[in-house]
Amino acid sequence: MGMIANLAPAGLTAGRDELGFREWTSARASNRIADYDLVILGGGCAGLSLAMRLAALGTRCPRTLVIEKRSSYTNDRTWCFWGESSKAVEHLIRQRWQRVTLRDGDRVVAVDCSAMPYQMITAEAFYEYALRVISESERIDLATGVVLASEPLKIGNEWRVATNQGLFSGAKVVDTRPPPPPQIGAATLWQSFYGCEIETECDIFEAGCAELMHFTPGPADQVNFNYVLPFSARRALVEATVFGVEPVGRGELEGELRDALHRRTRGVECRVLRTENGILPMGGTRPGKALDATYVKAGLSAGAGRASTGYAFQRIQRWADHCAEVLSHGGLPFDHPADPALLRALDYLFVSVIRSWPNAAPSLFLGLFEKTDTSRMIRFLSDAGTLADCAAVAAALPAGLFIREIPRAIGRKFGELAGRRGR
Ligand SMILES: Cc1cc2nc3c(=O)[nH]c(=O)nc-3n(C[C@H](O)[C@H](O)[C@H](O)COP(=O)(O)OP(=O)(O)OC[C@H]3O[C@@H](n4cnc5c(N)ncnc54)[C@H](O)[C@@H]3O)c2cc1C
Repeated sequence: MGMIANLAPAGLTAGRDELGFREWTSARASNRIADYDLVILGGGCAGLSLAMRLAALGTRCPRTLVIEKRSSYTNDRTWCFWGESSKAVEHLIRQRWQRVTLRDGDRVVAVDCSAMPYQMITAEAFYEYALRVISESERIDLATGVVLASEPLKIGNEWRVATNQGLFSGAKVVDTRPPPPPQIGAATLWQSFYGCEIETECDIFEAGCAELMHFTPGPADQVNFNYVLPFSARRALVEATVFGVEPVGRGELEGELRDALHRRTRGVECRVLRTENGILPMGGTRPGKALDATYVKAGLSAGAGRASTGYAFQRIQRWADHCAEVLSHGGLPFDHPADPALLRALDYLFVSVIRSWPNAAPSLFLGLFEKTDTSRMIRFLSDAGTLADCAAVAAALPAGLFIREIPRAIGRKFGELAGRRGR
């Protein structure tokens, strides 16, 4: 066992010592450099996903340190996804919706997705499970409440990672720290959202049906909609979402969320249980390849999100499955594979059309779900689409609008690439 033992994460895990977390002695306290085969920077979705798979390798697990900035984990998000889940997290699925709806004014599209339900994992369940699995491994240390003092430095064959808790070293680094704060131009579009989980006094939700997009009026250059995930007849996550060129902060979305709650509860008393918010990139350019093969970036900052949806959870799980497998054989870590060229082009054009014609977005989305066979649509959304699925999705879109957008999308892409080189 190395000099750092797992840190009992506070917050989520108060009194978690019974689960077997050990006391954490900092490297600074013992004034030595701790050596690892692998250092993972950031213990969020990507960092913990990789670490929990490595933990499952037993003695084949490389000696790993996860450095995480937060000192406690909270139920800070819900991860939803379509399609087949990675085996490592399948048992964590808390909710499956057999039907989803999209609404624009009086027009409603209801989709029966019982064959491939929309699924949800809470961050709470995910963190709790990941932390337990990691704490049971003798070969992985999780250091929470630790921040980097400077960027990792390669000296000889090892990476030196200086932190507020001392110096660590590792032969390989997987960096899952989040991307820089969102700014105009860094993504083709930003998906900003603010939501709260509520409990109402009487039954108002249909637990089997998720409201994917309920479009609402907003500024001409934005697409505004509400997203409602009912967990029971009295409990749901209600979110106000905006697609726009500018990232929109939580404060600016407060009014939208209030309206969304009012629209959905129609005055019925409700209690707010928790809130969540985020700003996800849609489109934009992937970061360039790392110069050193022993240092890779992963997670949202490494382009894990799907351009057309911003969704990243499933993609991170697939990456973690493969990356752990390669590391277990002494291989080098790797980042997220790029999507096939056709998918990239379709996604980029789609996001570009929404950016240019935000007022067309509601009918685009409703039309897509209405005209495309549900299985094809879900395979497409979950990165499992065949050529025929992509063709079916493309055929459901208004050809004129998309053809007109092509020159603008190409120009925009060149602009973004030039911007990346300039940064
Ligand atoms: C509220 C919310 C809801 C989402 N819902 C969905 C969804 O339904 N479906 C979907 O597919 N995707 C969803 N996403 C997008 C994506 O799946 C998540 O953002 C996911 O958590 C990204 O994983 P990550 O590991 O890249 O980043 P994170 O999970 O954010 O992990 C990064 C970690 O790095 C830590 N860190 C930061 N700075 C440092 C530092 N200097 N040193 C060490 N550690 C540091 C952070 O504390 C954090 O734990 C959602 C995102 C948010 C914010």
